[in-house]
Amino acid sequence: MMTSPVKCKLRSTYVFNFKKNCLFCDKKCSIENELKKSKERRDIIYNVCTLHFKQSVEDMAKMRNDEWGKTVLKRLDSVICLVAEEAIYHKSCERKFCKINHHKKKRRGDVRKMKMH
Ligand SMILES: [Zn+2]
Repeated sequence: MMTSPVKCKLRSTYVFNFKKNCLFCDKKCSIENELKKSKERRDIIYNVCTLHFKQSVEDMAKMRNDEWGKTVLKRLDSVICLVAEEAIYHKSCERKFCKINHHKKKRRGDVRKMKMH
């Protein structure tokens, strides 16, 4: 039987403060901070409250296949459950993250050649 060793709770290698920083942009995430900004620039802060959130962000990160995606993946890797960590994030960051810019890759018809069957 295979049993994985119980991981030590003290992680010294990579610690990300999910309670205080946005899990996407790594910036301080606080409502007070947002309230200081002008209404138009204010961001909505969300708490991760669904268990599948982590999985969907991981999937998204893999799909992005870029530096930002890798950074976020690494971040998520360091925790087991985002809900338990009380992770927070900016709504705008999630939007940006989940929006893959296909136009960037497009280069005058090249895309057609890549059609899969
Ligand atoms: Zn953010």
